[in-house]
Amino acid sequence: MTEHTKTDGLPGMDVMPMDAVATRAPLRNDKVSVPKVECNACPVLCQISEGRTGACDRYANRAGTLVRVDPVVLLRRAVESNATALVPFARPGAETTANGAPPAAPDWDGDLLLADEVFVTGVGSSTTYPDYKPAPFIVGSKVRGVDMVTVVTEGIFSYCSLKIKIDTDRFLGAEQANVRYKGEVVGHVTTAEYGSQMLSLGGVHHLTGGSKKEGRLTLELMQLLGNKKPAECLIDGGAGIVIQAGKAPIVNGVEEQRMRVGCGSAAVGIFARQFAGVADEVVVVDDHITGVLTQHQAGRCLDMAPSGIEMRGRKSTPGRYFQVANPGNGWGGTDIDDPLSIIEGWEAGVARPGLRLLMTSTTGEHAQWYVLDNALQAIEQPMPEEVRRIVERIGENCEPSLCTVLFLGGAGGSLRAGVSENPVLLTRAIKNALVNVTCGGAPAYVWPGGGITVMVDVMRMPDNSFGTVPTPAIVAPIEFSMRLDDYAALGGHTASVFPLEQALSRGAWQDDGAPIARQWQTIDAANPWPLAQPPMLG
Ligand code: SF4
Repeated sequence: MTEHTKTDGLPGMDVMPMDAVATRAPLRNDKVSVPKVECNACPVLCQISEGRTGACDRYANRAGTLVRVDPVVLLRRAVESNATALVPFARPGAETTANGAPPAAPDWDGDLLLADEVFVTGVGSSTTYPDYKPAPFIVGSKVRGVDMVTVVTEGIFSYCSLKIKIDTDRFLGAEQANVRYKGEVVGHVTTAEYGSQMLSLGGVHHLTGGSKKEGRLTLELMQLLGNKKPAECLIDGGAGIVIQAGKAPIVNGVEEQRMRVGCGSAAVGIFARQFAGVADEVVVVDDHITGVLTQHQAGRCLDMAPSGIEMRGRKSTPGRYFQVANPGNGWGGTDIDDPLSIIEGWEAGVARPGLRLLMTSTTGEHAQWYVLDNALQAIEQPMPEEVRRIVERIGENCEPSLCTVLFLGGAGGSLRAGVSENPVLLTRAIKNALVNVTCGGAPAYVWPGGGITVMVDVMRMPDNSFGTVPTPAIVAPIEFSMRLDDYAALGGHTASVFPLEQALSRGAWQDDGAPIARQWQTIDAANPWPLAQPPMLG
């Protein structure tokens, strides 16, 4: 959201200087002489003086009119050079020209042939709270000759979380360990996946179930991460990590580089043909599954002779070992710095002096070359060039490490009431693939089961899509697009449908707390155009 600094804050939130408190209570006349407007866009009900904003910085009092201060973001398939200019709506509270008339909107000539090139997002659109009213924008447009409707709102999500995928082999923390932000518990470590560690941050228990501070800091963290900004978290008994959507994670101060190509077993199999002939044994060290080439089915298929290597850890299946070491920040996500420490010994009569052994991690970041001496001791030697090239190829096959931030929220009955007077019909229509759900124009995956639980990659959403209200809750854009006749069938607020032209000139239908300007953005190239798309159903 735009930065706003002059705030009235929450009722009773401002800390008065002591001497001001001590002198006298404000006279009644003083109190009533400052005209205020009440914002009812969330349950806080801020009383906002002229020129000030409410506690969330999203609504302001402009000359006695309550306005939504951020522009509504409109998407276009392609945007001309004046893309980022703000265009005021023709409504009270909007900026006007010197003669008092609203400035012309040079970027839209009302050509409805281009209507299916324009999409109104929920970003900056304002909300439906206190839930008795239709969504602020219910926009009618024609797409390929079909009458369409997009219902646009900013949802207030008290029940929501972020699922974070961190591409790393490093040990971040034990499963279920607490994740802390500024000392408060804001989530936990969940499962480790192939090359990634998952975290769950936020959720209703941290937002509302703990102390006020816990809720406030959970909200702050979620807003930062949702808006693609960096935030540092500490994991109990684990690592300190800087998370930022679309960027490499920084674990204990070190920026992660590579995501593994596969586990140790997979790496052995993938590169087996290249290893055979240049090495007599290859061990790919990995916290999860360490691979041993000659014992692995891939080595057997290539007729590789057994090397006699005896591994520590728990043998799972031939050439695949679990628990060779503890998790850590050493080789392959283990806690070891000396890879030989996971070798128990060499079977006499099978192992032979001169045997060539490569040990590497799953990303190739660690790799060493050994030759067995007459006492069957592995002696480190310079790595031959042809072996080095294969290790480099392992690295080349590793994709860049990223943090992925997915917003997961439940569109509850109150939000749905802004769409339909019979909210359950919206849920059913979505599950019947009649209504596309997007968040800021980004495709939202709709979870199976009851309700409308959506998940969206914040990188596909416009920047600064997320706001907060101090209840505490996250504010996020959501749009429902469908045919006009389907909208009528699901009990939609058809009387509140207004054409795109009107949305572009006047903005939201309501006057109280409406946005005052619009702003064009290009749709993310990875996103399908939201209109005339089926939803991504689970
Ligand atoms: S939406 Fe913002 S300004 Fe309005 S009542 Fe809630 S916190 Fe206050």
